[in-house]
Amino acid sequence: MENFEYKNKNAWSKLDRREVMDFAESYKQFIGAYKTEREVVSFIRNESEKMGYKNLFDEGYDGKDFFAVNDGKSIFIFKNGTEGIEKGINIVVAHIDSPRIDIKQNPLYEKFDIALLRTHYYGGIKKYQWATLPLALHGVLILKNGEKLEFSMGEAPDEPVFVISDLLPHLGRKQMAKPAKEVIEGEALDPVVGSIPLKEKDKSSVKKAILKVLYDQFGITEEDFISSELTLVPAGGARDVGFDRAALTAYGHDDKICAYTAFRALIDSDVSEKPMLVMLMDKEEIGSDGISGSQSDFLEYVIESYLKAKGINNVSAREVLHKSFALSADVNAAIDPLYPDVFEEQNAAKFGHGIVVTKFTGSGGKYSSSDASAELVFAVRSLFNEKDVPWQIGELGKVDVGGGGTIAKFLAKRGVETIDAGPALLSMHAPHEIASKADLYSSYLAYKVFLNSALKLKR
Ligand code: MN
Ligand code: MN
Repeated sequence: MENFEYKNKNAWSKLDRREVMDFAESYKQFIGAYKTEREVVSFIRNESEKMGYKNLFDEGYDGKDFFAVNDGKSIFIFKNGTEGIEKGINIVVAHIDSPRIDIKQNPLYEKFDIALLRTHYYGGIKKYQWATLPLALHGVLILKNGEKLEFSMGEAPDEPVFVISDLLPHLGRKQMAKPAKEVIEGEALDPVVGSIPLKEKDKSSVKKAILKVLYDQFGITEEDFISSELTLVPAGGARDVGFDRAALTAYGHDDKICAYTAFRALIDSDVSEKPMLVMLMDKEEIGSDGISGSQSDFLEYVIESYLKAKGINNVSAREVLHKSFALSADVNAAIDPLYPDVFEEQNAAKFGHGIVVTKFTGSGGKYSSSDASAELVFAVRSLFNEKDVPWQIGELGKVDVGGGGTIAKFLAKRGVETIDAGPALLSMHAPHEIASKADLYSSYLAYKVFLNSALKLKR
């Protein structure tokens, strides 16, 4: 008898295990090494340059495949098609900022002979998860003389790390009775950065001693922190998870797993009919505002600059966008065996079942979602089925339990036919998130077939 039921298979049954594991090794190197948006941008830029991509903003740029950097924190990579840009482009958009703990502009202080840095966390974190972990400090400082100092400490095994302390259980009776979001308060996320005092006559100061170390080693003075962007991230690289090594734990899978797979999908593709664009955005975790966020007009600026370089003046950026398609490549939540109650099983993403296509995000009655059309869902469904991409349909959590948004709506409002698609994680937004290698590889395959597609909507 014919079967009319929708069944979704585990992706491992479809994929070549060797290919999956090999791809995961290269991702592991990337995700363990590039932890801030600036670092990802410089990696992608270098790789693109090595492969012959041109800087869109260079004088004499002539319409070749290009990269375009926005404010050092967002980067676009473009590959020409056999068709011109006038007929629209295939876009995969991901974000390269991740939840973390930023250092304040006047951060250094001492208390009880311990020096600490004041912080302000970035994005949606469970604050209690970040205490007692070895953290590395990444970022830049613009020194008094105008020199930009690229700073990284805590990644190499012989480098010191920074740690936020937590109360011992013996004295934690009151703390343990608090709601989880108050267990560690926002102002209690300050890491220990020193404890050897500097002796000056009858006084001694740990803060002064740390300032001396910073000056002697790096030429940093206290005022230089004002013009800095420093951030604490979990120290160390990615690790395999499980007896079978099926998964990976790392900082920042959200959303560098999509950034990496999208970039690889573009550079590993031959020239196709449609031009391809991968957009790696900043500021997604704090609302996509700002110069390098998805609400900025950098996308229009890039398209206009390209059209100008090509000498095309009968087509506007807006026309290009209205003919384009996009996958909003962001992570989803996999149903967690320890917390099944917040998921509606039939529509929840399953770990290892391939890339998750999500028709709508949002919360409280689809609020704030761009909600892709049935026609677009059909186009993507047919494409992934035809090309044998392991994929599943998925929705984030039970109705009214919570929710979240993605970049999708910022492309959709520009007229780009946009739908969400990305791998589902365990422990999203935790210092160490867990991703399935099968989902990682499925996402790579999905972005590749999408970038190479010539989708048409039946209306
Ligand atoms: Mn995300
Ligand atoms: Mn996120």
